[in-house]
Amino acid sequence: MSTIITRFPPSPTGYLHVGGARTALFNWFYARHTQGRFVLRIEDTDTVRSTQASADAIFDALKWLGVDWDEGPYFQTQRFHIYTEYVQKLIDAGHAYYCTCSPEEVEAMRRHAMATGGKPKYDGTCREKGLSKCDHAVVRFRAPRTGTTVIHDVVKGDIVFQNAEQDDFIIQRSDGTPTYNFVVVVDDISMGINTIIRGDDHVNNTPRQIMMYRALGAELPVFAHVPMVLGKDKTRLSKRHGAMSVTAYRDMGFLPEAMINYLVRLGWSYGDQEFFTREDLIEKFTLEHIGRSAGVFDMDKLLALNADHIKATPPRLLTPHLMPFLKERGYPAEEGDYLDQVILTLNARSKTLIEMADQARFYYVETVEYDPAAAEKNLKPESLDPLRLLIQHLESLTDFTIAGLEKIFLTVMEATGLKLGKIAQPVRVALTGKTASPGIFEIIEILGKGAVVRRLQQAVDYIETHVAS
Ligand code: GLU
Repeated sequence: MSTIITRFPPSPTGYLHVGGARTALFNWFYARHTQGRFVLRIEDTDTVRSTQASADAIFDALKWLGVDWDEGPYFQTQRFHIYTEYVQKLIDAGHAYYCTCSPEEVEAMRRHAMATGGKPKYDGTCREKGLSKCDHAVVRFRAPRTGTTVIHDVVKGDIVFQNAEQDDFIIQRSDGTPTYNFVVVVDDISMGINTIIRGDDHVNNTPRQIMMYRALGAELPVFAHVPMVLGKDKTRLSKRHGAMSVTAYRDMGFLPEAMINYLVRLGWSYGDQEFFTREDLIEKFTLEHIGRSAGVFDMDKLLALNADHIKATPPRLLTPHLMPFLKERGYPAEEGDYLDQVILTLNARSKTLIEMADQARFYYVETVEYDPAAAEKNLKPESLDPLRLLIQHLESLTDFTIAGLEKIFLTVMEATGLKLGKIAQPVRVALTGKTASPGIFEIIEILGKGAVVRRLQQAVDYIETHVAS
């Protein structure tokens, strides 16, 4: 088999939405799986709705997902000379012709067809006239009128269309601009695309496209039409179901690895496996396992998968994704051993990077702010003794390890007759401001002796000044 060449051809009329991202991923993973090529093409012929800002937003989202392209980005608006050449080829070969019927006349034909129980279509008035180019003429494709056109779809099986239902559609408007289905075919042929994976909202375009491949003597690509992504209520995914833009998920603290895992699984499966790394997907993604039923976007599942990926990602790989959230909160965080340890205490407790950054606060602030309820419950006069004793022992501790720390706590428990919880909880509030946190010994080890002693002393001062004894 020759090299697989896939493509992603978004229209730059908005951000990259989750459905589009899934299509991009299917094409990208298939190209990577087969060691083929992936082409990026911007379909910007709708100049009213297309913007450079949208194209840039799409590039940005693809880069975040780690989807790189081997060719492009091509812009259709820069390829008009190629489309004109192909129009001429079709005219010269007798597969297209000039038509001078006015829009009003075509409208009348459509009404007539409907009135007589047919499909609204152009009736072929100019088909055999042999008109030459002139102002106001459009170019129409001479579509076969009998027989069938069949899509051999690798997902849906054969889909049969009656040619009698098609009409001679326009490929070039009277102002010289080419039409959508035509440019897609010209691009796919001239870019050597041999595998087209796209949403099944395009199925109805495909018979026209196949007819043009045949007229141009080009080999047909493999078609894989993938069911749409639905919302939980089983209607097509839309803004009503939550964020649509892929980069909104970045801003909500999702890892790109979780997002690609989730999106690829929405419509593709590999046994019961749910968790996939990028490498797994490159190794396993084939067209046979694309499902026939629509995937349902479920935020809870995405969150659960994000939690799994956060946990599975080594700190140094997680750091670049987490850093913007730490900086946004004003923490003086830097890549390094300290942050590695911070991550290791939080990565099993965070469903998103936002949750992780919020929980990391106490590791970075100069002075801990106490949650009022936590302080009221735990920073009480009876905590003064154990806190003071702990400070004393810590200051002279040479073995600053979890084992060394455990020993000190035991000593304080013995000296005060208090259980571990009665000591650990005030310490936790003193160090983190909260009643829930990673393990107390781990925190102490990471914060280091200086910071811990300072925070314990701050808690002692707080009790002495705020709480009457
Ligand atoms: N530009 C089309 C879209 O954004 C894709 C066309 C295609 O895949 O053939 O839906």
